[in-house]
Amino acid sequence: MPGIHTAILFTDTAESKRLRQSDIIKTQLFLHENQMKTNLKHLSKNELSLFMERLGQKTYRTNQLTHWIYRKHATSFDDMTDFSKAFREELNEKAFISNSKLVQKLISKDGTEKFLFELEDGESIESVLIPNGRGKGKCTLCISSQVGCAVGCKFCVTGSLGLKRNMRAYEIVDQVIAVQRHAAQSDEDGGREVSNLVLMGMGEPFNNFTEVSIALRKLIELMGISRRKITLSTSGIVPGIQNLAETGPPVNLAISLNATTDKVRSSIMPINRKYPLKELIRACRDFPLSPNRSITFEYVLLGKLNDTKDDAVRLVRLLKGIKSKVNLIPFNPSCDTGELRQPSDKRIAEFQDILRKAGMTAMIRKSMGSDISAACGQLKAAFR
Ligand code: SAH
Ligand code: SF4
Repeated sequence: MPGIHTAILFTDTAESKRLRQSDIIKTQLFLHENQMKTNLKHLSKNELSLFMERLGQKTYRTNQLTHWIYRKHATSFDDMTDFSKAFREELNEKAFISNSKLVQKLISKDGTEKFLFELEDGESIESVLIPNGRGKGKCTLCISSQVGCAVGCKFCVTGSLGLKRNMRAYEIVDQVIAVQRHAAQSDEDGGREVSNLVLMGMGEPFNNFTEVSIALRKLIELMGISRRKITLSTSGIVPGIQNLAETGPPVNLAISLNATTDKVRSSIMPINRKYPLKELIRACRDFPLSPNRSITFEYVLLGKLNDTKDDAVRLVRLLKGIKSKVNLIPFNPSCDTGELRQPSDKRIAEFQDILRKAGMTAMIRKSMGSDISAACGQLKAAFR
């Protein structure tokens, strides 16, 4: 693993210790042509400063470098025209800027764009850009945190893949950089802009939280994305929710609830056997919320399984006293999901009505990009 060691051995911050302790994954074993060089996207701000210091550079140069990588999305040192030619050559010798490879892009009639990225070891992940209808060109980007997912929810295509591997922090961040670069070049008048980020793509963020939290800090501190515009969605890993509450980063929280009884929830989301509804709801009640913030509860409506009037009434009771909004997502049957069915339009409307009459904020999230969703079950539900 020479490449990775060159990248992280020269410093010993808490962050790099955490990196070393994290799972040894395939990318570390992957022999890269740049194996003797440092991947700058792998480094934190402090590590970048140290790297520059070792090259005899002043602090303001680190700021320039991070600006080039995270704000101007530079892919090569040759772009960095405010550095001398000699210094650019030195950077080329000692370092590189990794970039995810875009292998496919699908565009839906409704404006949703799906990106398929190939990672260094040949695994691939998806990111989805969804117009959020709030202002010209403004979009929500849905990003992945793992290749596949081990949680195994019955309605979810990613779950049926199983877990291939965790994503590294820089791979998570790279989705945003690559899509932002692309969005700025969009034909749409004035270009497209990633205004919101949701960790709602492939994977369970709390099952890869070390890398996810490093990525979130980079998105906030280096890319300048407001933490208020970032939402992490979980299937309900209670210690993860508590950890986020205690150590941050303080992003918005979404819970994939999807049922109102342990019996039904455990039958579609095996994680419920480990963290049943009572514990999950308690963790949500304890989750600190700043003024004007709430927890989003996602509820995939499954015909005749969790879409009854009784379910709606139970949901009102369950969330009582929690500052919340509910997203009702009609099930998207995009893979062999056995017995699971779509809810009828009547049931969807009745369900929403009961929640609204009880004073709750409940939105129906229509499926976006349904014509481009061939390989993906979960990313179709829009999030606004
Ligand atoms: N693992 C995290 C984040 C990714 S899943 C989580 O479970 O929250 C993102 C969302 O997609 C979840 O709310 C999930 O309930 C929803 N989803 C998955 N498969 C779906 C399908 N077939 N139809 C509609 N929504 C789906
Ligand atoms: Fe994993 Fe989320 Fe899909 Fe469940 S819904 S299998 S937790 S990605």
